[in-house]
Amino acid sequence: MQEQYLEKGLEIIKTLNSFTYQAYLVGGVVRDYIMDNKFVDIDIATNATPTQIQAIYPDVNMEYEHLGCVTLKLDGFTFEISTFKKEEYTEPRKPSKIYYAQELIDDVKRRDFTINALALTDNLKVVDLVKGQKDIKKKKVRVIGKAKVRFKEDPLRILRAYNLVARFNFNISFFTALGIKKTNKYLKTISNHQISREILKIFEAPFGRKAIGEMIDNRTFKYLKHYKDGMACIYKYYKKLSTIEKLTLCFALSEEIPENTSFDKNMLNKIQTLYKVVEETKHYTKNSKENINEKDVFDYGLELLLSALKINYYIRDDYPKLFNKVKKMDKNLPIHEVGELKFNGKDVVLLNRGVAGPYVKTVMDQLVTEVLLGKVNNDYSELKVRTLEILDEMNGVNIQEEKPKEETVVKQDVFPVQEVVYPKQEEVEKTKVVDIYEDEKPKVEVSNEIIRLKVHYDLEFNELVKNALASFIKGNESDDEVDALKTLIAKQVKEALLSQNPEYHILEQKGLI
Ligand code: ATP
Ligand code: MG
Repeated sequence: MQEQYLEKGLEIIKTLNSFTYQAYLVGGVVRDYIMDNKFVDIDIATNATPTQIQAIYPDVNMEYEHLGCVTLKLDGFTFEISTFKKEEYTEPRKPSKIYYAQELIDDVKRRDFTINALALTDNLKVVDLVKGQKDIKKKKVRVIGKAKVRFKEDPLRILRAYNLVARFNFNISFFTALGIKKTNKYLKTISNHQISREILKIFEAPFGRKAIGEMIDNRTFKYLKHYKDGMACIYKYYKKLSTIEKLTLCFALSEEIPENTSFDKNMLNKIQTLYKVVEETKHYTKNSKENINEKDVFDYGLELLLSALKINYYIRDDYPKLFNKVKKMDKNLPIHEVGELKFNGKDVVLLNRGVAGPYVKTVMDQLVTEVLLGKVNNDYSELKVRTLEILDEMNGVNIQEEKPKEETVVKQDVFPVQEVVYPKQEEVEKTKVVDIYEDEKPKVEVSNEIIRLKVHYDLEFNELVKNALASFIKGNESDDEVDALKTLIAKQVKEALLSQNPEYHILEQKGLI
């Protein structure tokens, strides 16, 4: 693929040459060709003007003609073709004059570093007007011209120098570094977008740590508002932090995520999420009265929480090392997601006379919290009893107040509540047809009080039958004998319950038990 791309580039140069124009491959592609590295894109420089290029390639994109640059798409490959230029600057990053030039040397002089200013002819001959090949051999990043002038003209070149260090394990030459130290202050004219793009490239490059080290040595980091406080920490823990963690660590220390960055939506989302968790867990300091708990592990998830705790541990002196504790907690969590709870939103609705509403989430949240904190077991019967207590504590008041609109279909994202049609309030109060338990047929006419009574009865009945069966069974009975025993016990338990609780008689009259 790279070979074909290069071949096509050389073909374009040949074509331009055949029209008597000078043309070369320039920039990163030549550097990478010499170093035997993969190149990212191909830039071509020529003394043909955009209109002259268009005369040869009519399909060329002229959008950036005013900058002396056109884009050519050929056989699926993209080429930037720039006319040789000279530039004059009066203020940083804004050349006051750009002229077309006739000679390659003029174009070479406006480029940033010697290793980026090599040119390649159609027959693969390197044209080296600034001793760039020597610097490649010596692994040197050396600015073309006077460092102070060139960095003042365009301070983005400072970050581009560190990028070359990060990518190729090169060193910045002495005078270039001196120029950087004198012009760092102009970095404040560079946009968040460009800074974030260069910093991200550095973090993702193989020798990023070395580049950060040089940024610290040359005091460059001091002029990068959102990164300055985090650089030393990142340098120290470089290998232990992912790119997202490095960026979030910087922003946690600068106390804001910069606006208008170059990060894509997915990356920004991850940074924002982690930033929030770092903030929300920063109070778990060594002397804090509050301790991290199972609910935190459940809410954030192990991976995200560990990232946040790591950042807090690295950036705060009084922050404890909580990693092992949290890993252990995660291993022992009774549930890892709401779906694992043995009681769901629909169960809550059924327990509360079929009344759905936002209160269901409150109840479910409480059940989840109590199960996580070990206050109640993840057991259907226990959760049912606890739900009744919670509903009693809520006293019906909240439930009534949070009444959703008529005929609303309740959809809970978080809980596996099946769609429930909310009944009109008058209907709730009156007697109505309710399917008490999903698979209990046929439907019977019952009041809301009776539903509640039936729930209490079932809880008691099941518990008593279970206990009695356990005490009678020896283990050597056949299935038929066990079934017969169950029937007998069930009959006796029912009779006992009816005699001790006269209010249960209504259930029998309605054929519910
Ligand atoms: P990459 O492999 O990332 O593409 P590159 O060196 O080709 O690296 P580009 O951004 O594609 O970088 O730029 C192409 C060329 O344009 C550079 O090699 C350099 O000669 C020149 N250049 C780019 N940015 C600047 C700048 N700010 N000042 C001077 N010259 C620049
Ligand atoms: Mg390039």
